[in-house]
Amino acid sequence: MSAPDLTRKVIGFRSWSPTDADELTALAKGTVWGRGTNTARCVSDATGYFAPPTYPYSPRREPCKHAPSPQCTCGIYAYHAPHLKQTPPPWSQAPLAQVHGAVAAWGRMEVHKNGFRTEHAEIIALGFHPDWPLRATQRLGVIADNYCVPAVALDALAEVAAEVGEAIPESLYPEIPPPPTREEIEAYNEAAKKHMAAYYDSFAPQLPSPKRRWWQRTAL
Ligand SMILES: [Zn+2]
Repeated sequence: MSAPDLTRKVIGFRSWSPTDADELTALAKGTVWGRGTNTARCVSDATGYFAPPTYPYSPRREPCKHAPSPQCTCGIYAYHAPHLKQTPPPWSQAPLAQVHGAVAAWGRMEVHKNGFRTEHAEIIALGFHPDWPLRATQRLGVIADNYCVPAVALDALAEVAAEVGEAIPESLYPEIPPPPTREEIEAYNEAAKKHMAAYYDSFAPQLPSPKRRWWQRTAL
């Protein structure tokens, strides 16, 4: 579902992996985030990894012209609310495995129940936990400086973000369709099985399988 025009920037929350150069990269695709505006680009490729809505019937597709697209999974991701439970406790990892922060988003947008995919986003603030070891907190400070954003307590992220924009109202969340029936799931699995069988069959003549060679010899 696409959001209507909101007058202020939309706020969201997400995590990154820090690099050795104290830059932040997306967890899924490893895209490095820049200072200021980041713009989404569709990275759908021949593997079809980013095309689940049509998979497995047409796993190969061209990148979308405009990201995010409703037919794809592209776009910059963010949650509606801080998802602190999903952030692994950094004190169990040395020295800082994941960074959590707030972003402001605008432009083309696809709204989902737990979050959204957006065209443009910028980091507004990064969060630290008071229980973190000093090294982790210091490193977060360096990363925040690198992005020219404040480092704030994780608890305060939502408050800081609210000064910049507003969360997408719940009335704009899409309605979740009922779960598929057993028959629908079985029909899908059956079609998927056939698709994969046809896919492997297309390679079969090239397979140097001993069984095939034996069969060819007996046939001659
Ligand atoms: Zn796409």
